[in-house]
Amino acid sequence: MKALIAAAAVWLATSALAAPKPDNALLKAATAEAPAVTGTLKSLVEVESGSGDAEGLETLGRYLEGRFAQSGGSVSRVKPLPGTVGDIIVARWKGTGKGRLLLIAHMDTVYQRGALAKAPFKVVEGAAGPLAYGPGIADDKAGIAVILHTLPLLSARDYAELTVVINTDEERGSVGSGPIITEMAKGMSAVLSFEPTVYPETMVNGTSGTNTVIVTIAGKSAHAGAAPEAGINAMVEAAHVIAVTKDLDRGPGKRRFNWTVVNQDRGVRNIIPNNVTLIGDLRTATLAEVDQFRAELAERLKTPAVAGAQVVAEVRVNRPPFDVSPASSALIEEAQAIYATLGRRLPLMPRTGGGTDAGYAAIAGVPVLEFLGLPGAGYHTTDAEYVHLESVPSRLYLAASLIRRLGR
Ligand SMILES: [Zn+2]
Repeated sequence: MKALIAAAAVWLATSALAAPKPDNALLKAATAEAPAVTGTLKSLVEVESGSGDAEGLETLGRYLEGRFAQSGGSVSRVKPLPGTVGDIIVARWKGTGKGRLLLIAHMDTVYQRGALAKAPFKVVEGAAGPLAYGPGIADDKAGIAVILHTLPLLSARDYAELTVVINTDEERGSVGSGPIITEMAKGMSAVLSFEPTVYPETMVNGTSGTNTVIVTIAGKSAHAGAAPEAGINAMVEAAHVIAVTKDLDRGPGKRRFNWTVVNQDRGVRNIIPNNVTLIGDLRTATLAEVDQFRAELAERLKTPAVAGAQVVAEVRVNRPPFDVSPASSALIEEAQAIYATLGRRLPLMPRTGGGTDAGYAAIAGVPVLEFLGLPGAGYHTTDAEYVHLESVPSRLYLAASLIRRLGR
Protein backbone atom coordinates (compact mmCIF):
# COMPACT_ATOMS: atom_id res chain seq x y z
CA MET A 1 0.00 0.00 0.00
CA LYS A 2 2.82 2.35 0.97
CA ALA A 3 4.54 1.56 -2.34
CA LEU A 4 1.30 2.31 -4.20
CA ILE A 5 0.89 5.65 -2.47
CA ALA A 6 4.53 6.49 -3.17
CA ALA A 7 4.07 5.54 -6.83
CA ALA A 8 0.94 7.67 -7.00
CA ALA A 9 2.78 10.58 -5.42
CA VAL A 10 5.60 10.29 -7.98
CA TRP A 11 3.05 10.08 -10.81
CA LEU A 12 1.22 13.16 -9.50
CA ALA A 13 4.48 15.07 -9.14
CA THR A 14 5.70 14.19 -12.64
CA SER A 15 2.34 14.88 -14.25
CA ALA A 16 2.26 18.24 -12.49
CA LEU A 17 5.77 18.89 -13.79
CA ALA A 18 4.74 17.73 -17.28
CA ALA A 19 1.64 19.95 -17.33
CA PRO A 20 2.43 22.48 -20.05
CA LYS A 21 2.59 26.10 -18.98
CA PRO A 22 1.46 29.09 -20.98
CA ASP A 23 3.81 31.83 -22.09
CA ASN A 24 3.00 34.16 -19.22
CA ALA A 25 4.21 37.35 -20.88
CA LEU A 26 2.06 36.66 -23.94
CA LEU A 27 -0.93 35.68 -21.82
CA LYS A 28 -0.58 38.88 -19.83
CA ALA A 29 -0.43 40.93 -23.05
CA ALA A 30 -3.45 39.09 -24.53
CA THR A 31 -5.42 39.65 -21.33
CA ALA A 32 -4.53 43.35 -21.35
CA GLU A 33 -5.53 43.65 -25.01
CA ALA A 34 -8.85 41.80 -24.62
CA PRO A 35 -11.11 44.61 -23.28
CA ALA A 36 -10.44 46.72 -26.38
CA VAL A 37 -11.99 43.97 -28.54
CA THR A 38 -15.47 44.96 -27.32
CA GLY A 39 -15.09 48.50 -28.69
CA THR A 40 -13.81 47.16 -32.01
CA LEU A 41 -16.76 44.77 -32.22
CA LYS A 42 -19.11 47.71 -31.66
CA SER A 43 -17.42 49.75 -34.41
CA LEU A 44 -17.53 46.82 -36.85
CA VAL A 45 -21.15 45.88 -36.12
CA GLU A 46 -22.36 49.49 -36.37
CA VAL A 47 -21.34 49.65 -40.03
CA GLU A 48 -23.96 47.56 -41.81
CA SER A 49 -22.16 45.58 -44.51
CA GLY A 50 -24.45 43.00 -46.06
CA SER A 51 -23.07 41.23 -49.16
CA GLY A 52 -23.76 43.49 -52.15
CA ASP A 53 -24.21 46.66 -50.03
CA ALA A 54 -21.74 48.86 -51.93
CA GLU A 55 -21.94 51.80 -49.51
CA GLY A 56 -21.66 49.71 -46.34
CA LEU A 57 -18.77 47.62 -47.66
CA GLU A 58 -16.94 50.76 -48.80
CA THR A 59 -17.39 52.40 -45.37
CA LEU A 60 -16.18 49.31 -43.56
CA GLY A 61 -13.34 48.86 -46.06
CA ARG A 62 -12.11 52.38 -45.34
CA TYR A 63 -12.36 51.79 -41.58
CA LEU A 64 -10.26 48.63 -41.93
CA GLU A 65 -7.68 50.36 -44.12
CA GLY A 66 -7.26 52.89 -41.30
CA ARG A 67 -6.97 50.24 -38.59
CA PHE A 68 -4.43 48.14 -40.48
CA ALA A 69 -2.38 51.24 -41.33
CA GLN A 70 -2.37 52.20 -37.63
CA SER A 71 -0.94 48.75 -36.91
CA GLY A 72 1.92 49.43 -39.30
CA GLY A 73 0.62 47.41 -42.24
CA SER A 74 1.01 48.43 -45.86
CA VAL A 75 -2.57 48.43 -47.04
CA SER A 76 -3.88 47.92 -50.55
CA ARG A 77 -7.15 47.17 -52.28
CA VAL A 78 -7.77 44.31 -54.67
CA LYS A 79 -10.75 44.40 -57.02
CA PRO A 80 -12.87 41.28 -56.79
CA LEU A 81 -13.76 39.45 -60.01
CA PRO A 82 -16.38 41.23 -62.14
CA GLY A 83 -19.92 41.11 -60.77
CA THR A 84 -18.91 41.31 -57.11
CA VAL A 85 -19.47 44.44 -55.02
CA GLY A 86 -16.82 45.71 -52.58
CA ASP A 87 -13.02 45.88 -52.73
CA ILE A 88 -10.96 43.27 -50.91
CA ILE A 89 -8.74 44.87 -48.25
CA VAL A 90 -5.21 43.49 -48.07
CA ALA A 91 -2.63 44.44 -45.43
CA ARG A 92 0.99 43.25 -45.27
CA TRP A 93 3.74 43.30 -42.69
CA LYS A 94 7.36 42.32 -43.30
CA GLY A 95 9.28 40.74 -40.45
CA THR A 96 12.53 39.00 -39.68
CA GLY A 97 11.09 35.54 -38.97
CA LYS A 98 10.92 32.56 -41.32
CA GLY A 99 7.25 31.87 -42.01
CA ARG A 100 4.87 33.46 -44.48
CA LEU A 101 1.35 33.54 -43.06
CA LEU A 102 -2.02 34.49 -44.50
CA LEU A 103 -4.88 35.45 -42.17
CA ILE A 104 -8.38 35.56 -43.68
CA ALA A 105 -11.79 36.85 -42.54
CA HIS A 106 -14.77 38.45 -44.30
CA MET A 107 -16.47 41.80 -43.76
CA ASP A 108 -19.81 41.03 -45.43
CA THR A 109 -22.82 39.68 -43.56
CA VAL A 110 -26.07 37.99 -44.56
CA TYR A 111 -28.14 40.92 -43.28
CA GLN A 112 -29.92 43.60 -45.25
CA ARG A 113 -29.64 47.25 -44.26
CA GLY A 114 -31.98 47.95 -41.33
CA ALA A 115 -31.11 44.81 -39.37
CA LEU A 116 -28.96 46.89 -36.99
CA ALA A 117 -31.89 49.16 -36.03
CA LYS A 118 -33.85 46.05 -34.98
CA ALA A 119 -30.91 44.47 -33.16
CA PRO A 120 -28.43 47.14 -32.02
CA PHE A 121 -25.05 46.25 -30.55
CA LYS A 122 -25.31 45.36 -26.86
CA VAL A 123 -23.40 43.53 -24.16
CA VAL A 124 -25.41 41.45 -21.68
CA GLU A 125 -24.32 39.25 -18.81
CA GLY A 126 -24.85 35.56 -19.59
CA ALA A 127 -24.39 32.42 -17.50
CA ALA A 128 -20.89 31.96 -18.96
CA GLY A 129 -19.84 35.60 -18.79
CA PRO A 130 -20.66 38.61 -20.98
CA LEU A 131 -22.14 38.17 -24.44
CA ALA A 132 -21.90 40.79 -27.19
CA TYR A 133 -24.84 40.91 -29.61
CA GLY A 134 -25.21 42.39 -33.07
CA PRO A 135 -25.89 41.45 -36.71
CA GLY A 136 -22.87 39.63 -38.14
CA ILE A 137 -20.95 39.90 -34.86
CA ALA A 138 -19.92 36.24 -34.79
CA ASP A 139 -19.88 35.70 -38.57
CA ASP A 140 -17.50 37.25 -39.17
CA LYS A 141 -16.87 40.64 -37.56
CA ALA A 142 -15.39 38.96 -34.50
CA GLY A 143 -12.93 37.22 -36.83
CA ILE A 144 -11.73 40.64 -38.01
CA ALA A 145 -11.60 41.88 -34.39
CA VAL A 146 -9.46 38.91 -33.32
CA ILE A 147 -7.02 39.63 -36.17
CA LEU A 148 -6.89 43.37 -35.36
CA HIS A 149 -6.13 42.74 -31.68
CA THR A 150 -3.67 39.90 -32.31
CA LEU A 151 -1.44 42.27 -34.31
CA PRO A 152 -0.28 44.27 -31.25
CA LEU A 153 0.81 40.99 -29.59
CA LEU A 154 3.26 40.24 -32.40
CA SER A 155 6.73 41.52 -33.15
CA ALA A 156 8.72 41.54 -36.39
CA ARG A 157 10.59 38.36 -35.45
CA ASP A 158 7.29 36.41 -35.37
CA TYR A 159 7.01 36.19 -39.17
CA ALA A 160 8.84 36.81 -42.43
CA GLU A 161 5.64 38.06 -43.97
CA LEU A 162 2.16 38.46 -42.56
CA THR A 163 -0.73 39.10 -44.94
CA VAL A 164 -4.32 39.82 -43.93
CA VAL A 165 -7.10 39.50 -46.51
CA ILE A 166 -10.64 40.70 -45.74
CA ASN A 167 -13.11 39.90 -48.53
CA THR A 168 -16.60 41.22 -49.21
CA ASP A 169 -18.61 38.34 -50.71
CA GLU A 170 -18.10 35.30 -48.47
CA GLU A 171 -21.82 35.02 -47.77
CA ARG A 172 -22.42 34.79 -51.53
CA GLY A 173 -19.99 31.94 -52.01
CA SER A 174 -16.89 34.13 -52.57
CA VAL A 175 -17.33 33.86 -56.33
CA GLY A 176 -15.52 37.19 -56.73
CA SER A 177 -12.79 36.64 -54.15
CA GLY A 178 -12.27 32.88 -53.81
CA PRO A 179 -9.83 32.49 -56.74
CA ILE A 180 -7.93 35.54 -55.44
CA ILE A 181 -7.65 33.92 -51.99
CA THR A 182 -6.34 30.74 -53.65
CA GLU A 183 -3.66 32.75 -55.50
CA MET A 184 -2.63 34.61 -52.35
CA ALA A 185 -2.44 31.38 -50.34
CA LYS A 186 0.09 29.85 -52.75
CA GLY A 187 3.51 29.48 -51.18
CA MET A 188 2.32 30.44 -47.68
CA SER A 189 3.61 28.48 -44.69
CA ALA A 190 0.01 28.33 -43.47
CA VAL A 191 -3.38 30.01 -43.78
CA LEU A 192 -5.36 30.86 -40.66
CA SER A 193 -9.08 31.42 -41.19
CA PHE A 194 -11.03 33.37 -38.60
CA GLU A 195 -14.60 32.10 -39.00
CA PRO A 196 -16.56 31.71 -35.75
CA THR A 197 -16.40 28.61 -33.62
CA VAL A 198 -19.02 27.38 -31.14
CA TYR A 199 -18.97 27.67 -27.35
CA PRO A 200 -17.13 26.02 -25.70
CA GLU A 201 -14.62 26.31 -28.52
CA THR A 202 -13.80 23.52 -30.99
CA MET A 203 -11.71 22.95 -34.07
CA VAL A 204 -13.30 21.51 -37.21
CA ASN A 205 -12.45 18.58 -39.45
CA GLY A 206 -13.58 20.23 -42.67
CA THR A 207 -16.14 22.38 -44.44
CA SER A 208 -18.39 21.38 -47.33
CA GLY A 209 -18.09 22.13 -51.02
CA THR A 210 -20.99 23.44 -53.08
CA ASN A 211 -21.17 22.95 -56.85
CA THR A 212 -23.53 23.77 -59.70
CA VAL A 213 -24.23 21.17 -62.36
CA ILE A 214 -25.39 22.59 -65.70
CA VAL A 215 -26.55 20.39 -68.56
CA THR A 216 -27.51 22.18 -71.77
CA ILE A 217 -29.41 20.25 -74.39
CA ALA A 218 -29.56 21.54 -77.95
CA GLY A 219 -32.12 20.09 -80.37
CA LYS A 220 -33.84 21.40 -83.47
CA SER A 221 -37.09 23.32 -83.81
CA ALA A 222 -39.87 22.08 -86.04
CA HIS A 223 -43.64 22.46 -86.38
CA ALA A 224 -45.13 20.34 -83.63
CA GLY A 225 -48.13 19.38 -85.75
CA ALA A 226 -47.04 19.47 -89.39
CA ALA A 227 -43.49 18.07 -89.19
CA PRO A 228 -42.42 16.98 -85.67
CA GLU A 229 -40.16 14.32 -87.23
CA ALA A 230 -38.03 17.11 -88.71
CA GLY A 231 -37.22 18.38 -85.20
CA ILE A 232 -34.99 17.16 -82.39
CA ASN A 233 -36.89 17.45 -79.10
CA ALA A 234 -34.56 18.87 -76.44
CA MET A 235 -37.20 18.44 -73.76
CA VAL A 236 -37.54 14.71 -74.33
CA GLU A 237 -33.76 14.43 -74.15
CA ALA A 238 -33.82 16.44 -70.89
CA ALA A 239 -36.27 13.93 -69.43
CA HIS A 240 -33.86 11.17 -70.40
CA VAL A 241 -30.95 13.03 -68.76
CA ILE A 242 -32.91 13.31 -65.50
CA ALA A 243 -33.96 9.67 -65.63
CA VAL A 244 -30.42 8.35 -66.06
CA THR A 245 -28.78 10.62 -63.46
CA LYS A 246 -31.17 10.88 -60.53
CA ASP A 247 -29.44 8.00 -58.72
CA LEU A 248 -26.16 9.95 -58.64
CA ASP A 249 -27.38 11.26 -55.26
CA ARG A 250 -25.79 9.07 -52.58
CA GLY A 251 -27.97 10.02 -49.61
CA PRO A 252 -27.56 11.69 -46.21
CA GLY A 253 -23.97 12.33 -45.07
CA LYS A 254 -22.67 11.35 -48.52
CA ARG A 255 -22.48 13.02 -51.90
CA ARG A 256 -25.73 14.91 -52.53
CA PHE A 257 -26.93 15.58 -56.05
CA ASN A 258 -30.33 16.88 -57.03
CA TRP A 259 -31.80 18.52 -60.12
CA THR A 260 -33.35 21.83 -59.06
CA VAL A 261 -34.04 24.07 -62.11
CA VAL A 262 -35.30 23.59 -65.68
CA ASN A 263 -34.89 26.48 -68.13
CA GLN A 264 -36.19 26.78 -71.65
CA ASP A 265 -35.80 29.78 -73.96
CA ARG A 266 -39.07 30.91 -75.58
CA GLY A 267 -41.16 27.81 -75.14
CA VAL A 268 -44.07 27.73 -77.60
CA ARG A 269 -46.88 25.19 -77.53
CA ASN A 270 -46.76 24.30 -81.22
CA ILE A 271 -42.96 24.20 -81.71
CA ILE A 272 -40.69 21.25 -80.94
CA PRO A 273 -38.30 22.73 -78.33
CA ASN A 274 -34.70 23.16 -79.47
CA ASN A 275 -33.14 24.02 -76.12
CA VAL A 276 -33.44 23.08 -72.47
CA THR A 277 -31.00 23.74 -69.62
CA LEU A 278 -31.04 21.63 -66.47
CA ILE A 279 -29.41 22.90 -63.30
CA GLY A 280 -28.55 20.70 -60.35
CA ASP A 281 -27.07 21.15 -56.86
CA LEU A 282 -24.05 19.02 -55.93
CA ARG A 283 -22.49 18.81 -52.42
CA THR A 284 -19.17 17.11 -51.91
CA ALA A 285 -16.63 16.47 -49.18
CA THR A 286 -13.56 16.71 -51.42
CA LEU A 287 -12.57 18.13 -54.80
CA ALA A 288 -11.68 14.58 -55.87
CA GLU A 289 -15.39 13.75 -55.43
CA VAL A 290 -16.25 16.53 -57.89
CA ASP A 291 -13.93 14.97 -60.49
CA GLN A 292 -15.45 11.58 -59.77
CA PHE A 293 -18.93 13.04 -60.28
CA ARG A 294 -17.88 14.69 -63.56
CA ALA A 295 -16.67 11.34 -64.87
CA GLU A 296 -19.85 9.51 -63.79
CA LEU A 297 -22.07 12.20 -65.29
CA ALA A 298 -20.18 12.12 -68.61
CA GLU A 299 -20.56 8.34 -68.73
CA ARG A 300 -24.33 8.53 -68.13
CA LEU A 301 -24.82 11.19 -70.81
CA LYS A 302 -22.63 9.56 -73.46
CA THR A 303 -25.50 8.32 -75.61
CA PRO A 304 -28.50 10.63 -76.09
CA ALA A 305 -31.93 9.00 -76.23
CA VAL A 306 -33.08 11.44 -78.92
CA ALA A 307 -31.00 11.04 -82.06
CA GLY A 308 -29.12 14.22 -82.93
CA ALA A 309 -29.52 15.92 -79.53
CA GLN A 310 -26.35 17.70 -78.33
CA VAL A 311 -25.81 17.31 -74.60
CA VAL A 312 -23.13 19.36 -72.86
CA ALA A 313 -22.47 18.96 -69.13
CA GLU A 314 -20.55 21.32 -66.90
CA VAL A 315 -19.80 21.06 -63.17
CA ARG A 316 -18.87 24.39 -61.61
CA VAL A 317 -17.17 24.47 -58.24
CA ASN A 318 -18.82 27.37 -56.38
CA ARG A 319 -17.04 26.87 -53.14
CA PRO A 320 -14.47 24.15 -52.81
CA PRO A 321 -14.63 21.88 -49.77
CA PHE A 322 -12.00 22.12 -47.07
CA ASP A 323 -10.76 18.73 -46.05
CA VAL A 324 -8.25 18.61 -43.21
CA SER A 325 -4.93 17.42 -44.66
CA PRO A 326 -2.21 15.79 -42.52
CA ALA A 327 -0.48 19.20 -42.37
CA SER A 328 -3.73 20.88 -41.26
CA SER A 329 -4.23 18.11 -38.73
CA ALA A 330 -0.81 18.89 -37.27
CA LEU A 331 -1.90 22.53 -36.95
CA ILE A 332 -5.05 21.46 -35.12
CA GLU A 333 -2.87 19.50 -32.67
CA GLU A 334 -0.69 22.60 -32.19
CA ALA A 335 -3.79 24.67 -31.44
CA GLN A 336 -5.05 22.05 -28.99
CA ALA A 337 -1.66 21.97 -27.23
CA ILE A 338 -1.62 25.78 -26.98
CA TYR A 339 -5.15 25.81 -25.56
CA ALA A 340 -4.23 23.08 -23.08
CA THR A 341 -1.64 25.42 -21.53
CA LEU A 342 -4.60 27.67 -20.67
CA GLY A 343 -6.44 24.74 -19.10
CA ARG A 344 -8.97 24.81 -21.94
CA ARG A 345 -9.97 22.12 -24.42
CA LEU A 346 -10.37 22.35 -28.20
CA PRO A 347 -12.12 19.16 -29.27
CA LEU A 348 -12.34 18.38 -32.98
CA MET A 349 -15.84 18.55 -34.41
CA PRO A 350 -16.89 16.75 -37.59
CA ARG A 351 -17.15 18.46 -40.98
CA THR A 352 -19.72 21.25 -41.08
CA GLY A 353 -22.38 21.33 -43.81
CA GLY A 354 -21.52 24.96 -44.43
CA GLY A 355 -18.76 26.16 -46.70
CA THR A 356 -16.02 28.69 -45.90
CA ASP A 357 -13.07 30.34 -47.63
CA ALA A 358 -10.78 27.73 -46.05
CA GLY A 359 -11.79 25.67 -49.10
CA TYR A 360 -10.35 28.25 -51.50
CA ALA A 361 -7.18 28.53 -49.43
CA ALA A 362 -6.75 24.75 -49.27
CA ILE A 363 -6.68 24.47 -53.10
CA ALA A 364 -3.27 26.18 -52.89
CA GLY A 365 -1.98 23.00 -51.24
CA VAL A 366 -0.89 24.72 -48.05
CA PRO A 367 -1.91 23.89 -44.45
CA VAL A 368 -5.12 25.64 -43.44
CA LEU A 369 -6.63 26.09 -40.01
CA GLU A 370 -10.30 27.08 -39.68
CA PHE A 371 -12.46 28.32 -36.76
CA LEU A 372 -10.07 30.86 -35.21
CA GLY A 373 -12.73 33.56 -34.69
CA LEU A 374 -14.71 34.02 -31.51
CA PRO A 375 -17.12 31.39 -30.18
CA GLY A 376 -20.68 32.43 -30.87
CA ALA A 377 -24.16 31.41 -31.89
CA GLY A 378 -27.21 32.59 -33.76
CA TYR A 379 -25.43 33.18 -37.07
CA HIS A 380 -27.80 34.28 -39.79
CA THR A 381 -30.59 35.21 -37.33
CA THR A 382 -30.90 38.96 -36.96
CA ASP A 383 -31.70 39.52 -33.31
CA ALA A 384 -29.88 36.65 -31.67
CA GLU A 385 -26.32 36.58 -33.03
CA TYR A 386 -23.74 36.87 -30.27
CA VAL A 387 -20.19 36.08 -29.20
CA HIS A 388 -18.71 35.06 -25.85
CA LEU A 389 -16.41 37.78 -24.55
CA GLU A 390 -15.11 35.47 -21.82
CA SER A 391 -13.05 33.66 -24.48
CA VAL A 392 -11.38 36.75 -25.94
CA PRO A 393 -8.04 36.57 -24.03
CA SER A 394 -7.72 32.87 -24.92
CA ARG A 395 -8.53 33.51 -28.59
CA LEU A 396 -5.94 36.30 -28.86
CA TYR A 397 -3.41 34.12 -27.07
CA LEU A 398 -4.16 31.21 -29.42
CA ALA A 399 -3.87 33.28 -32.62
CA ALA A 400 -0.65 34.99 -31.51
CA SER A 401 0.88 31.69 -30.33
CA LEU A 402 0.07 29.95 -33.62
CA ILE A 403 1.57 32.80 -35.65
CA ARG A 404 4.74 32.68 -33.52
CA ARG A 405 5.04 28.90 -33.82
CA LEU A 406 4.56 29.01 -37.59
CA GLY A 407 6.34 32.24 -38.33
CA ARG A 408 9.51 32.34 -36.26
ZN1 LIG B 1 -18.53 33.47 -42.25
